[in-house]
Amino acid sequence: MEAKTDKIWLDGKLVDWDKAQIHILTHTLHYGWGVFEGIRCYHCHNGSSAIFRLKEHVDRLFDSAHIVGIKIPFTREEIFSAILETFRINRLKEGYIRPIVFVGDGEMGIYVKKVDVRVAIAVWSWGAYLGDEGLAKGIRAKVSSFTRLQVSSQMTKAKVCGNYVNSILAKREIIAAGYDEAILLDTEGYVSEASGENIFMVKNGIIKTSPLTSILPGITRDSVITIAKDKGCQLIEERFTRDELYLADEAFFSGTAAEITPIREVDDRQIGPGHPGPVTKDIQATFFDAVKGKVDKYKGWLARL
Ligand SMILES: *Cc1c(COP(=O)(O)O)cnc(C)c1O
Repeated sequence: MEAKTDKIWLDGKLVDWDKAQIHILTHTLHYGWGVFEGIRCYHCHNGSSAIFRLKEHVDRLFDSAHIVGIKIPFTREEIFSAILETFRINRLKEGYIRPIVFVGDGEMGIYVKKVDVRVAIAVWSWGAYLGDEGLAKGIRAKVSSFTRLQVSSQMTKAKVCGNYVNSILAKREIIAAGYDEAILLDTEGYVSEASGENIFMVKNGIIKTSPLTSILPGITRDSVITIAKDKGCQLIEERFTRDELYLADEAFFSGTAAEITPIREVDDRQIGPGHPGPVTKDIQATFFDAVKGKVDKYKGWLARL
């Protein structure tokens, strides 16, 4: 159980954590037609707190809803303020924020005439998703037997509830096999991304990441690209293969939950020296400075509480 907080924002009102309940015939529960976001708030070095790239997350929530044809009954400004308000009222210094847009109860079946769109925002305290040790020393990844969603059958650029069965199958498979995170290939066999993170590799000083075709356009991915380019690194968005990844000097995952997590092994092959390399460590350090308000040029990424 995630540590309970006081209030959850539900359809425009703050309700008690225990009272934020929905009916068993909630449409999204049955068919997965809903969208969500994952956002983090960090405790800054000066004692205040700030939500990282809140505007981009709210925009992506609306983009996801647009892609699957759900109309959110609030404006972007209302959701932006509601997220800030929900975080403030729960008096956390840092934590995770989960807005979800879902279709309520009243009608069953794939097609519903009257679409009752509901919105909830929950916050809770959440540490390193792949573990503190993973952040420091790197994790062991494995390529899953499950392929990343095919672009013609699922909408890969949206955080759609139902899409995550694919991630869950991949993740459960590799955890059962004794690894930490799953890498999914696209339908042509190129590396796409992980179960909930984007992927980067470094070879001879050049950083590569999968292009925005079959992957979720990560906001952390975008932050990494900006940070790397600002440092003068050469970065290309280009497909790469599993064996190219085996021969990388460094590799890492990026995501709101996983932050910047180094990869020390893929399919039992050690990556580089088997511990986080200099490029990964440098980008990771700047990322954590940026989210905590220590880097002036990235202060525009922060929404103060
Ligand atoms: C959310 C998510 C990511 C990471 O996106 P961020 O915006 O960086 O959090 C990557 N891949 C998948 C499949 C995701 O759901």
